[in-house]
Amino acid sequence: MQIFSDNIDPLRAQIAQWKNDRDIIGFAPTMGNLHDGHLSLVRNLKKNGATKIIVSIFVNPRQFGPTEDFNQYPRTLKNDLELLEKEGVDLVFCPDVNLMYPSHISSEITINNPKLMNDLCGVKRPGHFNGVLLVVNKLFNILRPDIAIFGQKDYQQFILIKNMVANLFMEVNLILSPIIRENNGLALSSRNSYLSYENKMLASKIYTSLLKIKDNLCKKNSDISQSIRREIDRLNSIGFEVEYLELRTLNNLEICNEYQPGKDKYILLIASKLGRTRLIDNLIL
Ligand code: AMP
Repeated sequence: MQIFSDNIDPLRAQIAQWKNDRDIIGFAPTMGNLHDGHLSLVRNLKKNGATKIIVSIFVNPRQFGPTEDFNQYPRTLKNDLELLEKEGVDLVFCPDVNLMYPSHISSEITINNPKLMNDLCGVKRPGHFNGVLLVVNKLFNILRPDIAIFGQKDYQQFILIKNMVANLFMEVNLILSPIIRENNGLALSSRNSYLSYENKMLASKIYTSLLKIKDNLCKKNSDISQSIRREIDRLNSIGFEVEYLELRTLNNLEICNEYQPGKDKYILLIASKLGRTRLIDNLIL
């Protein structure tokens, strides 16, 4: 497994050689502290025909707000590299901040998709998705992947990247990878390590609520807004602070008040604080 961290010229030469050899380059961007969710991305890249696998590990400062957990974010590079080696990854790109954001480039470009960026998670995390799109763009330009994979857990991020790729005519195929969960239903996340044992148990109730809303949809005369309201109240009453729990269209996250399965496809999305930890999850209906 090759590891590149401080110089992109040899990295680019390796990628050029793979392109020349007609390899299919699959890419999974991550912030490290890898768990089974991340490793499933690697496996799914292979299933989707990638012949060379690249994983990036970069805690991107631009996607953290001033009061967020950039400094605290778990960094476990040695262990991450061992896991990736076992998974048969070909190349890891773990750049220094200075490589991704060189100080001699003074005026930074931003990529905007204002309506969707300021919605859902963007309400409480202004600037977050600008940071995400900026870094994904840089990584795509350096690594030139044929396929890039993103987890469904960050579904709004996926739709924003899909829009960026379409709008900017970027030559990369995107894959959405299913959410990997603990046995109790909690979606795996690096931020779960901030939770106490008790809160980790409690956090699984987020998924229980999503499943309950889905179950209610199958019942006669069920009212989706009422059942969403009930689950928000239930979660808030046991210690969560729900930021949003909403039904949206699957395709482009449009607001919808009615569930009409014959007409459209839908997704339920939630973000909630539990103590100081912010958790997100979703369920495709
Ligand atoms: P992160 O390191 O949190 O930035 O995540 C890197 C990639 O892994 C993103 O595409 C995430 O959506 C994906 N990911 C994170 N958690 C999971 C999970 N539980 N299941 C599947 N993919 C995940």
